[in-house]
Amino acid sequence: MTLPTMPRRRTRILVLTALLAVGLACSGPTAVAGAHTADAPVSAAFSMGTSVKGRPLTGVHRAYAGATTRVLVIGSIHGDERAGQRVITDLQRGDQPRNLDLWLVRTVNPDGVAADRRTNAHHVDLNRNFPYRWRSINKGTETYSGPAAASEPETRALQALVRRVRPQLIVVFHQPLFGVGANTKGMPTVRALAAGMRLPVKAFACGGVCYGSFTSWVNHRTAGLAVTVEFGRTASDARIRRAAATIRSVGARL
Ligand SMILES: [Zn+2]
Repeated sequence: MTLPTMPRRRTRILVLTALLAVGLACSGPTAVAGAHTADAPVSAAFSMGTSVKGRPLTGVHRAYAGATTRVLVIGSIHGDERAGQRVITDLQRGDQPRNLDLWLVRTVNPDGVAADRRTNAHHVDLNRNFPYRWRSINKGTETYSGPAAASEPETRALQALVRRVRPQLIVVFHQPLFGVGANTKGMPTVRALAAGMRLPVKAFACGGVCYGSFTSWVNHRTAGLAVTVEFGRTASDARIRRAAATIRSVGARL
């Protein structure tokens, strides 16, 4: 390639720009913070505690510099409902809106996931253990609320994360009730999530009243909005991709 008509100074700038681009691209694999190229969101792992059995509770924070719209996504809280973890995998890849400050937690119940069981290692349903309308209920069943409100380390770790990050929106995935949970705090966002994910809006009442649920605690004790998303018994790859894309687009418009 020749540049016969281009002034020498401009040619030099072009060459410098090209060298800079190559240099940045090459620096990617050695970057400490993970996937980091010239113009991509930066990912950083974070720790939020340990489970009953000592497994690390971890997540990934992913954002462009200066992003301010904080969205926390939880792939699973019940160990035998794991389809939402595939949404987390999708959200850890590719591009995302520049204002979106994503906090991604694959599971807050790694002991339950390892045992393929709803409850944690103390046989407590973490989604009945939060300190809002907590009651001592259902001992010996899959919805045991635990010996006291916030008795479980996984519950306390998630509370601490929410208080630290202060997400405007939290999406937590479950199965198999197939719908997006209605709540009085943020119906426009609930409807937008349901439309994007092609799921119906439903009232999930935990068989009566939701005692000690995570979303109730968030919605009544913090400024943010928490929304339950229930896939069916299975979720196709297309549905997983659609759920991730919806979180990106709805989150960016908060
Ligand atoms: Zn569930």
